[in-house]
Amino acid sequence: MPARHEHDANAGGVSSIFGQSVTVASAGARSSLQLMIAFTPTRAAGLTRLEDFLPHAVGNYARRRNFDLPGHANVSRMSPWLRHRVVTEAEVIAAVVARHGPEMAEKFLSEVTWRLYFKGWLERRPSVWAAYKIERQAAWNRMQTESGLRHQWEAACRGETGIACFDHWAQELTQSGYLHNHARMWCASIWIFTLGLPWTLGADFFLRHLLDGDAASNTLSWRWVAGLQTRGKHYLAQADNIATYTDGRFAPTGLAEDASALNGPPHPPLGPCPTTDPIQADLRSGLLLTEDDLHPDPLLANGLAPVATATLQATTGRSILVSSAQAVDFTRAAIADCTTRLTDRLGPITACVDTDEILHWASAHRLEQVVMHNAAVGPARDALEGLRAKLLDHGVRFSVQVRPLDALASQHATAGFYKFRAALPEIIALAQP
Ligand SMILES: Cc1cc2nc3c(=O)[nH]c(=O)nc-3n(C[C@H](O)[C@H](O)[C@H](O)COP(=O)(O)OP(=O)(O)OC[C@H]3O[C@@H](n4cnc5c(N)ncnc54)[C@H](O)[C@@H]3O)c2cc1C
Repeated sequence: MPARHEHDANAGGVSSIFGQSVTVASAGARSSLQLMIAFTPTRAAGLTRLEDFLPHAVGNYARRRNFDLPGHANVSRMSPWLRHRVVTEAEVIAAVVARHGPEMAEKFLSEVTWRLYFKGWLERRPSVWAAYKIERQAAWNRMQTESGLRHQWEAACRGETGIACFDHWAQELTQSGYLHNHARMWCASIWIFTLGLPWTLGADFFLRHLLDGDAASNTLSWRWVAGLQTRGKHYLAQADNIATYTDGRFAPTGLAEDASALNGPPHPPLGPCPTTDPIQADLRSGLLLTEDDLHPDPLLANGLAPVATATLQATTGRSILVSSAQAVDFTRAAIADCTTRLTDRLGPITACVDTDEILHWASAHRLEQVVMHNAAVGPARDALEGLRAKLLDHGVRFSVQVRPLDALASQHATAGFYKFRAALPEIIALAQP
């Protein structure tokens, strides 16, 4: 690891992660951690956050969104709700456009579009997620025999590297479950290029702790920082950029500001777009809810009347380690909020942990059809592997519904973001209620 020093004179402070006492990077860091944001895992709270953010979604957002400041008031902080579709991308896009019009809100709409793009991109290339997991396992195996690597990884996860800004963000992540986008970029860059740690373990660290932990946005962003996503182009955290966009809270020295991009295989060939199965209205149907989509309202509005509902939480599949309690709890509570909110319309609710339990639930309720919104490439899709065949073996139809925005996104996610972005007018049109 290259030598590094920080100009931050205010080192000190104690907090607890991994059940141990650790040093918080600075008084500046300490005060910003005190401003941690509340993420309440309900649709009502997500809609309130959206409503509060709407007036700020244009000028201030466009000018100040790159500043990583305590409280993160310059950005929406909508991601935990969006990730689980407690509030959907379509609802956010429609609300912003209704308030400001598409031109004024162009910057914000563009950022939401990144999320759709990444999802569509991974949907067409699921082997990138599979390859990530294999590479992550290999990096994990290396750590069992390389004690130096293991110590560096532990220090990074605990926020004890001695790089004050990095340590602050690592602790903010583990304590709050959220990081500003710029901090994610700097953190990932320092992890890969300055600390020299395997990128897959960094992506795993994020996915384990983020309330918005998302296979597509996280994996592809880490790949982008590493130079694997836009091949040959990587993101190097620069000390002056960090100082500017943290309002001078951090001024690191010794960052690897001229490291080379990582090498990796070319992108796999494009796979097919996901397709929607028909729903047979006359069949005795059950609804399957996953943490990827907690807004079944359009299915219910279109006439689906489930006699029973099953839920599947797949947070265990996010990480090679146990996912953080707050990520697990946020997801669990968001699922509970959905079933409580729609309690009269969902029938009895059964929490399932795997496909065998889903099968058992389907037979217990004598279902002829199981309907769900598509689970994206990632832990929920992994957990459902083989379900279609198992249900069919038992004479139960499986009807997966792809949301129109997801269908459009996967159709357009054939190359880079800027090509994709040309579809923004179509995205906005589809998002209208
Ligand atoms: C290394 C790295 C890892 C990331 N991991 C995740 C992740 O696991 N889950 C996740 O949702 N986002 C991830 N992001 C993207 C982005 O950092 C977050 O979506 C954003 O910071 C969330 O904060 P916000 O809601 O205040 O964003 P805002 O700026 O208010 O944006 C509004 C919404 O647009 C979407 N969005 C904004 N920027 C991006 C972006 N660059 N990529 C994709 N979507 C975006 C999010 O859904 C966000 O909620 C990652 C970025 C990096 C660099």
